[in-house]
Amino acid sequence: MNRVYLSLGSNISNPLTQLKNAINKIKHIKDAQVIIQSPLYYSPPYGPIKQPYFLNIAIAIETYLTADIFLDQIQNIEKEQGRVRKTDRWGPRTLDIDIMLFGKQILNTPRLTLPHYDMHNRAFMLLPLFDIAPNLYLPDGRRLSNLLASLDERIIKNVIKC
Ligand code: ATP
Ligand code: MG
Ligand code: MG
Repeated sequence: MNRVYLSLGSNISNPLTQLKNAINKIKHIKDAQVIIQSPLYYSPPYGPIKQPYFLNIAIAIETYLTADIFLDQIQNIEKEQGRVRKTDRWGPRTLDIDIMLFGKQILNTPRLTLPHYDMHNRAFMLLPLFDIAPNLYLPDGRRLSNLLASLDERIIKNVIKC
């Protein structure tokens, strides 16, 4: 059994409904149980593309599925909700579901990087994660609270709890 932390984000086609529908579908994944979900956060777009603000949430899951199979499941949900995967990252999207942590697994394959390669730089991932797992350590021994403390305050203050 692995404890998995997901980050969900949406910034087009009614983000609140997108996130609610996605969480409902995640609850229906066989052999996966949603344990807790964070409050919602409103965050400025990441990267250089001009686009609407995002709505973000983190959720914790317990599952016996492998990380690979679990990724299949969440990518299906993204597709069902109209996600068109472009070659350039960080554009507007109906739904993004990223695996921040999958138990203590460390992985670097073309399809899956664990922990999420950039979570330590993203307040919209770390803040909701901290709400649901304040005592969390990453597999490399870094403490979540320390990662948050070393983020630039200007980045943090732009991410607003709803
Ligand atoms: P970013 O990863 O910087 O947040 P993004 O979420 O917009 O960008 P996507 O288009 O959703 O990027 O995903 C690109 C690819 O990343 C996917 O095809 C997926 O196989 C891969 N990937 C690697 N690691 C992960 C992970 N931890 N969670 C989700 N997808 C991952
Ligand atoms: Mg992403
Ligand atoms: Mg993604």
